[in-house]
Amino acid sequence: MPGQLAIIPRDEHGISRSNISDNALKVLYRLHKAGYQALLVGGGVRDTLLGMHPKDFDVATDATPEQVNKLFRNSRLIGRRFKLVHVIFGRDVIEVATFRAPPQENHSKQQAATGSEGMILRDNVYGTRDEDALRRDFTVNALYYNIADFSVLSYAGGWQDLQQRTLRLIGDPETRYREDPVRMIRAIRFMGKLDFDLSPETAEPVRRLAPLLEQVPSARLFDESLKLFLAGHAASTFELMREYQLFGHLFPAASECIEEDDFALELARNTMKNTDLRIQADKSVTPYFFLSALLWPAVLRMQRNLESKGMDSHPALHKAIDSVMAYQCQFTAIPRRFTISMREVWELQLRLPKIRSRKCRDLLGHPRFRAAYDFLLLREQSGEDLNGLGQWWTDFQQEHGVPEKTPSSFTDKTDRPPRRRRPNRPRRRKPSA
Ligand code: ATP
Ligand code: MG
Repeated sequence: MPGQLAIIPRDEHGISRSNISDNALKVLYRLHKAGYQALLVGGGVRDTLLGMHPKDFDVATDATPEQVNKLFRNSRLIGRRFKLVHVIFGRDVIEVATFRAPPQENHSKQQAATGSEGMILRDNVYGTRDEDALRRDFTVNALYYNIADFSVLSYAGGWQDLQQRTLRLIGDPETRYREDPVRMIRAIRFMGKLDFDLSPETAEPVRRLAPLLEQVPSARLFDESLKLFLAGHAASTFELMREYQLFGHLFPAASECIEEDDFALELARNTMKNTDLRIQADKSVTPYFFLSALLWPAVLRMQRNLESKGMDSHPALHKAIDSVMAYQCQFTAIPRRFTISMREVWELQLRLPKIRSRKCRDLLGHPRFRAAYDFLLLREQSGEDLNGLGQWWTDFQQEHGVPEKTPSSFTDKTDRPPRRRRPNRPRRRKPSA
């Protein structure tokens, strides 16, 4: 039976309290002592059972958000679409969610709402623990660790699916994808992260329903894209996103180039590999660097198109950037703080070839120089023939050093702080500025 509950006692599973963060334990114990149910759920349980380190611990309870909020002075109520409580311990945040019931027709609009295509818009109807389990996405995400007796609760066969490394949606897959099309992206994200397979019935509707992603708010898709590509498994996730025909609904212009042009594909693959390597090496990754690489072929294609109609390269680039960005943001909205830096990285691609200019030294102090230079190397590595330009800039930096402090605004020369030069300073390869 799909909703069947199995209880795995403490000596038959691999989670012990030493695997759980002190803060999560504090929250669990306080709720339990106050007479509420208190369980870990989601990635914290799933990843710990797989011997991985979860990135956070989520708590589920039968206490309402208001009751949880009263119990913890260091907590705050958040969310409208999905009301929950954050218990804050410095930089560590434990998310506490009240058990939810599945969406039903007869609830008031304030509590739950479903859109015309069956999409859930609000989700604040509280329910029992059993109901809470069945409205979660995958069976392996509906495993709970119960602080009352240290057992693991498995619903809908989650425990078996975990052993068999299978992602299976709870309930009817098509209905569940229609309720929330982001579950298609989550399926790919967990495949990439956990190296699990999709069960056949969970995989089947994805290509067919992929266009539903276009109804998801573009700001939410941006957040999901970052989770997809900036979590250390970008290379495998990218191939899966293409295979399941989802990538084109997030980044349509980039996707068109990638499917038609070897350089665009190679650049995207190298960008993904590069991102994963940086994360493995504990280096920073910035969304703007990643995104400027992904969208570059689309910008370049449009710029060349405009040039062929007689426009000069600079205005053509600006116009190309504007239209690629405007189109992109209809699907996955990139916040302005990133689009500004992306534009700078792209504009620098036109300035870096001007190596005879006396302004070359100034470019070293540009806040986006490092990213633009790294991107230049990536372009060459992906097959663009730039006549040894990357090496030229490598040598130039060796010779002139990189200023210690970068000015906040490159164009405003009066603001520019004095530069300290250090000859032969070793090369830093951070794309962030
Ligand atoms: P990770 O934290 O590694 O990304 P996670 O499984 O914890 O993985 P979260 O986004 O933190 O993912 O969500 C926590 C839990 O909430 C999930 O495990 C799942 O049970 C439930 N959940 C999250 N998003 C959805 C969704 N769109 N539909 C149904 N359930 C969801
Ligand atoms: Mg989580």
